[in-house]
Amino acid sequence: MTDFLVTNKMKKKDFIQHRTPFYSYDLKLLKETLEEAKSAAKKYDYHIHYALKANSNDRILKIIHEKEFGADCVSGNEVKKALEIGFPSSKIAFAGVGKSDEEILIGLANDIFAFNCESIEEIDVINQLAKGQNKMARIALRLNPNVDANTHKYITTGLEENKFGINSWELNNLIDRLPSWANIELTGLHFHIGSQITSMTPFKNLCIRVNEFNTWFRERNIHIQHLNLGGGLGIDYHEPEKNPIPDFELFFGVFNQFLQPFSHQEIHFELGRSLVGNCGSLNSRVLYIKKGIKTNFAILDAGMTELLRPAIYQAYHFIENVTSKSENKEFYDVVGPICESSDCFGKKIELKETKRGDYIKIHSTGAYGEVMSSKYNLREQNPVFYIE
Ligand SMILES: *Cc1c(COP(=O)(O)O)cnc(C)c1O
Repeated sequence: MTDFLVTNKMKKKDFIQHRTPFYSYDLKLLKETLEEAKSAAKKYDYHIHYALKANSNDRILKIIHEKEFGADCVSGNEVKKALEIGFPSSKIAFAGVGKSDEEILIGLANDIFAFNCESIEEIDVINQLAKGQNKMARIALRLNPNVDANTHKYITTGLEENKFGINSWELNNLIDRLPSWANIELTGLHFHIGSQITSMTPFKNLCIRVNEFNTWFRERNIHIQHLNLGGGLGIDYHEPEKNPIPDFELFFGVFNQFLQPFSHQEIHFELGRSLVGNCGSLNSRVLYIKKGIKTNFAILDAGMTELLRPAIYQAYHFIENVTSKSENKEFYDVVGPICESSDCFGKKIELKETKRGDYIKIHSTGAYGEVMSSKYNLREQNPVFYIE
């Protein structure tokens, strides 16, 4: 893939003349966001692992690594990528409901911080593989707290009806088996209730459940070294320019207020979207304005192959016509060129009067954007611009 670093020498005007579509990243905003998250977490001695799945672009990962974040991985390749960038294995957590044997072996070979385990069956397999390698595997139990994240159903993960995590009724069975797993060291409890959570209430409810689980283990004399509260903090997709950086102080403050860890328990988080979401944009041009029965379609040269979120979870992104000089505003259904009806970025979007060739910026695409792009319809691989 072609990478361009846009510095002061290369003017903004030059980069928007490039063939569209393409992603661009504001590295200054990324760094400011990371600094704010870091200083808010430092206040309480909290540890942050960056969730690579939100954006695993090398240049972005290097910056996150330089700021000394840990890594949260959901595949063997993400573990490999984190190591390659330089994240220390002692700061790598490995989550995921379906880890293959091969992926588990990568984690074992590198003595990672913890496997976040999602079932008794998985712990059994990790134990066997660790035995074969003569290793001890550190694990955290991903527990299902049955807390509603009040977010889109496809990004809700902490309810008993979801495929994720170990449910509370399985815990007695699990701890009965614990002594028989000779190559497993249980070090933590892990939770992740969902994504794009903008109210603090679900996080408060999570704390209350975590305290109950934590006490339950303590009463059974099981020493838990770390609590991992996962990620999920949302960003402002509606007014990204007004609120480019999420309120990390408010977020960590909720945990400080409601979580009751025992002494010496470390507190970890796995943030993805909130760290990288607002620093990315998808840049596109209007191919055609097509008159429909009820609405005009603005057909872009970017589609669901570049940005999948609107098609799979009706996600909202702020869309802006950057080049129109018109004083008039009109409503458009903003769609892509892909042969799927769900290839739509937004219905009834108000834009400055738009014509063929106008330059359209889709905001807040730094998380779950470029990483989810596909070659469907044999689409081109696009270049990426980084703005310093
Ligand atoms: C996706 C994921 C995260 C990150 O979620 P964000 O909403 O991007 O902060 C953290 N932990 C786990 C286990 C995940 O699957």
